[in-house]
Amino acid sequence: MDNCIFCKIIDGAIPSTKVYESDRVIAFLDINPIEKGHMLIVPKQHWKNLAEVKLDTEKEIEVYEELMYIVRVAARAVISTGFAAGANILQCNNACAGQTVDHLHFHVIPRYGSDAVSVPVFTSGAAKYEDGEAAAIAEKLAKAIETIVKEEELL
Ligand SMILES: [Zn+2]
Repeated sequence: MDNCIFCKIIDGAIPSTKVYESDRVIAFLDINPIEKGHMLIVPKQHWKNLAEVKLDTEKEIEVYEELMYIVRVAARAVISTGFAAGANILQCNNACAGQTVDHLHFHVIPRYGSDAVSVPVFTSGAAKYEDGEAAAIAEKLAKAIETIVKEEELL
C-alpha cells in the first residue's frame, strides 16, 4: 500500500530496529515506546486491522497464524527471560479505538513494575447495563460471532 508507513518499513524504505522477521511477519521496536522494549508485531500482508483480516486463502491463514504465534512468543520472550516482570498486549481497530497506523499491528509492551503507566488502560465499570440489556447485547454479539464463524468455515 502506498503511503503506509509499515509497508515502507517492511520494504526497507524506512529503517527499523527489528527483533524478528520472516516471509510473513516482522517485529520491531516502536519508535515512540510506552516502555523500553515496546515491540510492534506486524503482518507483511497489508490488512487495515484485525476486523479487516480475510482468511480466504492458505497464505492469508498462514500469515495470520504466524502473526498470532509471534505475539505470544514476544510476550513469552519478555517474561520468561526475565527481561521484564510482565507485558501488555494492545491492538487497536479504527481511529475511534486509537488506531493511528492503518496497517494491522499488535503492541507488546514490557512492564517492569515501576512505571507510571496505568493498567487497565480503560476504566473498568465505566459503562453500566440497564436491566436485561447485557443479555440482549450478548445475544446480538453471539449471533454476529456465529455468523462469521459459519462464513469462514474454519472451526
Ligand atoms: Zn501497510
